[in-house]
Amino acid sequence: MQCSLSLPFSPASSSAATSSRSHSSFPISTGKPLNLRFCGLRREALGLGFTTSLNRRCPQLPSRQHATTVSAALSDNGSSSKSFDYDLLIIGAGVGGHGAALHAVEKGLKTAVVEGDVVGGTCVNRGCVPSKALLAVSGRMRELKSDHHLKSLGLQVSAAGYDRQAVADHANNLASKIRSNLTNSMKALGVDILTGVGTILGSQKVKIGSSNIVTAKDIIIATGSVPFVPKGIEVDGKTVITSDHALKLESVPDWIAIVGSGYIGLEFSDVYTALGSEVTFIEALDQLMPGFDPEISKLAQRVLINPRNIDYHTGVFATKITPARDGKPVLIELIDAKTKEPKDTLEVDAALIATGRAPFTQGLGLENIDVVTQRGFVPVDERMRVVDANGKLVPHLYCIGDANGKMMLAHAASAQGISVVEQVTGRDHVLNHLSIPAACFTHPEISMVGLTEPQARERGEKEGFEVSVAKTSFKANTKALAENEGEGIAKLIYRPDNGEILGVHIFGLHAADLIHEASNAIALGTRIQDLKLAVHAHPTLSEVLDELFKSAKVKEQASSPVSEPVAV
Ligand code: FAD
Repeated sequence: MQCSLSLPFSPASSSAATSSRSHSSFPISTGKPLNLRFCGLRREALGLGFTTSLNRRCPQLPSRQHATTVSAALSDNGSSSKSFDYDLLIIGAGVGGHGAALHAVEKGLKTAVVEGDVVGGTCVNRGCVPSKALLAVSGRMRELKSDHHLKSLGLQVSAAGYDRQAVADHANNLASKIRSNLTNSMKALGVDILTGVGTILGSQKVKIGSSNIVTAKDIIIATGSVPFVPKGIEVDGKTVITSDHALKLESVPDWIAIVGSGYIGLEFSDVYTALGSEVTFIEALDQLMPGFDPEISKLAQRVLINPRNIDYHTGVFATKITPARDGKPVLIELIDAKTKEPKDTLEVDAALIATGRAPFTQGLGLENIDVVTQRGFVPVDERMRVVDANGKLVPHLYCIGDANGKMMLAHAASAQGISVVEQVTGRDHVLNHLSIPAACFTHPEISMVGLTEPQARERGEKEGFEVSVAKTSFKANTKALAENEGEGIAKLIYRPDNGEILGVHIFGLHAADLIHEASNAIALGTRIQDLKLAVHAHPTLSEVLDELFKSAKVKEQASSPVSEPVAV
């Protein structure tokens, strides 16, 4: 990862750059005629005036705002009479592209997104959305199968079961629904969706499909990522699979090895064990879940791994994985990660490769603008401006989301897109990546924002400030206990001298929803002494954080300014 954050959401290793796209092939031709002068559905949905909206999409009508935008571009370029088909063209209609497009039309920009596959990208079609549908099922199965849990609530349920195809359909239907929501929201707000592979031809110029050329004042690359499969692993899509295949739930193997214990591997272990599989983790580092705060990893191991049908091999690499064939099981050859000596051979029913994600920049034409990727990622500065091979900024070109590798999360992609739109509409904006939360949707959930304790201590030592830690338990929370879900902690890492939050980590019921009070506080620079005065409804899980902030010991006359966010 390029940033200094060490989250479990890390991109793949260096060979990622050579990985090829595995999930689909792009249509080469444009799916519909380019509609560059379309005056259709407009921005009334945003409650904006009809005249403005009509002007935005019909450049033949005078529009003061549009004229300003384009003339700014002209003076930037030093060219005199150039006009563009669009103010903003976004290559890739994943969540990053979608977030940028919606913000752009809200800001009055004439906007188009180019999509070579299906709208929604990884998150909607092969990531967050279908995986959360499967996790919703696994959470319920887990509850229904837990006699102890049900009895303590006074419930009696006869044997729980599931219909695999119906579970798979739930995930697929959800993805379709969200995909159509995303498409409709863009169309309704006046974003043109141009179908075909986008290739950058030169400054402010993109070819779509085989021959359509579109110009735009500003261009955002939002081409995302694909699963990274290390060398030596043969994916057949049936018995050796990536998350792309696993989300279709075409089978529930009796025994599945999961290679990689980051958040994707961990979420799938939750799904598979709830549906009855036995899981074996294979992890190259010495401990499972290496990206989490160490204390949280330990607790997660105690709750999410040890009592479940899961075993693991740590400190090993899977150097060769052969799919099941001719009546033989999947074969996994392991070597010691340090000595490289052969360590073990496993025979399992299936293997899920969850070793990270590789940026997808194939066919993008970066060579036409002298941009050289770094381990496959598009190099950008802290404002997402693309940097060329000579270290110079490429004018009017930005890259957001998984393709830049700063933080490979859906909401990070979208936030980066919004940040770019702020900049191209005249407001300088630098996104503080340390304020972006992350979550793992296991049962219970894990969430985090900012630094882990070791990272905070290292920074404190370097910059000469003291670091303190406060913790609260879900065991003391009425709502959690009412749900019989008291297992969990929240941990606050902070500066006692000025009350600055350095990191918050939560393991427990609805941790993914609870983290936002902390992430918003970091984003807005709110200090703990002010958060202590905030009021939380009783009885709610949010009181876990209320207790957390109240238990922090901030020096009385805390007055030193909060530290500058680290640009990552
Ligand atoms: P993408 O969503 O990958 O979209 C890129 C789009 O660009 C694609 O539609 C692609 O077809 C298109 N494209 C590529 N090249 C071109 C081209 N040349 N021309 C035209 N179109 C092109 N993140 C979370 O925040 N929360 C989660 O719970 C979560 N769960 C996940 C679960 C799984 C199993 C996986 C795999 C990922 C998960 N993620 C999650 C990560 C998240 O999906 C990604 O971070 C996010 O989708 C990145 O968005 P993006 O817009 O950068 O790229």
